[in-house]
Amino acid sequence: MTFAERVTHLAPEGAYHMLALAQALEAEGREIVHLEIGQPDVPTFANVALAGIQAIREGQTRYNPPAGVPALREAIAKDITQQRGIEVQAAQVVVGPGAKPALFFPTLALVRPGDEVIYPDPGFPTYAAMIGVAGGVPVPVPLREETDFAFDLEVFDRVVNERTRMIVLNSPSNPTGGVLSAQVLEHVADAAQRHDAWVLSDEIYARMAFDGVPVPSIAALPGMRERTIICDGFSKTYAMTGWRLGFGIMPEPLAERVGLLLTHSIGCTATFTQLAGLEGLTGPQDQVEAVMAEYQRRRDVLVAGLNEIPGVSCRVPQGAFYAFPNVSAFGQTSDWMATYLLEEAGVAVLPGTAFGQGGEGYLRLCFANSMENIEVALERMAGALTRIGMT
Ligand code: PLP
Repeated sequence: MTFAERVTHLAPEGAYHMLALAQALEAEGREIVHLEIGQPDVPTFANVALAGIQAIREGQTRYNPPAGVPALREAIAKDITQQRGIEVQAAQVVVGPGAKPALFFPTLALVRPGDEVIYPDPGFPTYAAMIGVAGGVPVPVPLREETDFAFDLEVFDRVVNERTRMIVLNSPSNPTGGVLSAQVLEHVADAAQRHDAWVLSDEIYARMAFDGVPVPSIAALPGMRERTIICDGFSKTYAMTGWRLGFGIMPEPLAERVGLLLTHSIGCTATFTQLAGLEGLTGPQDQVEAVMAEYQRRRDVLVAGLNEIPGVSCRVPQGAFYAFPNVSAFGQTSDWMATYLLEEAGVAVLPGTAFGQGGEGYLRLCFANSMENIEVALERMAGALTRIGMT
């Protein structure tokens, strides 16, 4: 079959591929610990789920405005104003089914064929996908473990130029768990202003930082509000991955364009999902905090356990729920290591290369899983990894 060029580069997300392999082994009777998929293991908070159910009961099942129901847009604007230290109006908020539309549609609205887009490598696979579909030129910039997985600024400075239309940031990061410092953000902001580029700041894990580390938003820096799109959502913070609810914050003229893209592609986001999200945002926040405290306990156990395995070294992730250990000492590819761990240890993890070539030498483990499973995974991994030699 012949396809339009804009889709020929698309590939499945690595997490789904590994999940399918793990499920095939489970079908043969193997017992697998799943650390590959990045989603909270807790159910959607009860008050949030009930608000959605109540909305369906009340008949909130019809079309609604494409950019989102006004009450939710207002609540998001208020929340982001408080959380990120920037003044946001409801007209700048575009709600969509998940955070992904807030990545894809602003990119489609801004990136013209031949425009260059800088993005983190390793990074969330949607970045490369959306740049390709928009006809942009993907410019991956490696992240450096030594600087908590910030951009390699030497490479960044070399590749940023007047053809750079957009710079994608993700903090806290999937897959590294790194949080970008104010200094790195200032460096990127300076380059964006010098070259008149947009910044797409994926802040979906902004509420998920550990040890009280601050997560600054580049949008709050002087001169950046008018050239920044914030992508955020409810999937991770409120354990709502399957409800599909996210949003973008952007200058109003862009919000109008993105609203039109939503109108003609998705139509609108389910009203009951939005009302559930509204309850999440405006209801009690103690569950968000309790879950984060639990993730932090699991992170500490996982990272300490990984660092005890000879040949594995893992930095302490400061946010999100991923550990990104360096396994290059084994002298094998990440892909080989992930397949080996699945087959030999019954532990499903992702190769770092599922997030780009810059992930070579690393694995991604999601610790949004029970402490019991994390301990089993560590024991099995330690056993399997001591059976292979190191270079
Ligand atoms: N951005 C990052 C960095 C993610 O890790 C994810 C989901 O894994 C998304 C965006 C997409 O979120 P959603 O499921 O709400 O579309």
